[in-house]
Amino acid sequence: MPLLAYTHSGEPLIAPLMTDDEWEQLRVTRNRNAWMPYGKGRAIPKTSCLGTRFFAHPPGQAPEGAKESDLHLYIKAQSLIGARAAGWDALPEQSGTTPDGQDWRADVLCRRSGRPWTVALEAQVQLQGEDAYRQRQERYARSGIRALWLVAHEPAALHHFWLRPDPHLPAFKTMTWKDQDGQPGAYVHIDHLSLSISDFVAGALTGQLRWYENGRHRIILLVLREDQCWHRTCRRRILLAYRAEAPQGRRLEVEVAQAMQGYADAYAKAQAALPDLAESPWASRRDLASRCPHCNREIRYKREDWAGRSATYKLPIGISIPEQESNIGLAPPHTRWHWGPQSRWPHWAPLGGVGPISHQPPEMPPRRGGPRTG
Ligand SMILES: [Zn+2]
Repeated sequence: MPLLAYTHSGEPLIAPLMTDDEWEQLRVTRNRNAWMPYGKGRAIPKTSCLGTRFFAHPPGQAPEGAKESDLHLYIKAQSLIGARAAGWDALPEQSGTTPDGQDWRADVLCRRSGRPWTVALEAQVQLQGEDAYRQRQERYARSGIRALWLVAHEPAALHHFWLRPDPHLPAFKTMTWKDQDGQPGAYVHIDHLSLSISDFVAGALTGQLRWYENGRHRIILLVLREDQCWHRTCRRRILLAYRAEAPQGRRLEVEVAQAMQGYADAYAKAQAALPDLAESPWASRRDLASRCPHCNREIRYKREDWAGRSATYKLPIGISIPEQESNIGLAPPHTRWHWGPQSRWPHWAPLGGVGPISHQPPEMPPRRGGPRTG
């Protein structure tokens, strides 16, 4: 079920990109000027069960293996719409040959206006293993084309790839469904977002999709407690750092966090963003000590967990671990494909910088007996 036909003079007719009027005009014209590629006769405009327009071969002239799922057709059509929305040229169902003579056929082939074809969009509905993905990717690469895969089959077939994605295979889980009226929908999943296929394709072609990798970059959470400076002439709100956390919730002493490369820069950025943040603490016997950001007096406080009693905050900071400590239990969670600017990546903080702070109100009313001024 192709999306593409040609006029007699070779102008492409791309079914999902035609206006309603153009489509209707074509449909009602008896000797219509629309022809199937490769001399397969006059094209018949039709609409699939999922509402996608396509061209059918004349009865009895469909080539072997031309049967295509309605879902595949739908994803292809949405990909075309996305590519055009990004301002790229796009044609469905294009074939080519690598310099060493291997054939490929792209669901949608894209190029910037006036440039060579550089991107293939592949709607993969039929189950395909990782090896086949890689072979096909490699074949495209030999023709100077990069393929972007919408993985609409059972995702478990790419189980290992999802665990360890890599920059050479841009492949994305694509979930499809029909609503109660039989209308199709599909989402591409990336970075905790669910994007429509056309939005995803348009964004991917305009620089929203990017690979990030830095084997030593980790993100930890600095846990801050809200309090009040104890000096009676000050009494201003302060934020005290009392411990850190690995993303899975494992507790780190604040000194462990402080020893990590990037901590000092990140803390300085946090102080610039949070005027109430006290100085990065130091050990004072078994307790911690810091300095009030307002009156500059020393403050001593406990390391114990305040989460239940005071308002606490968690501030993601980006640090770099030494190479020999690559297994200190901090996974490198950002080695993968991301969407949009770094500031919106989930659970993200740049190296030596901070991410969005999250607030946790106290579970119990605050107790007397906070910090003492020194
Ligand atoms: Zn103070």
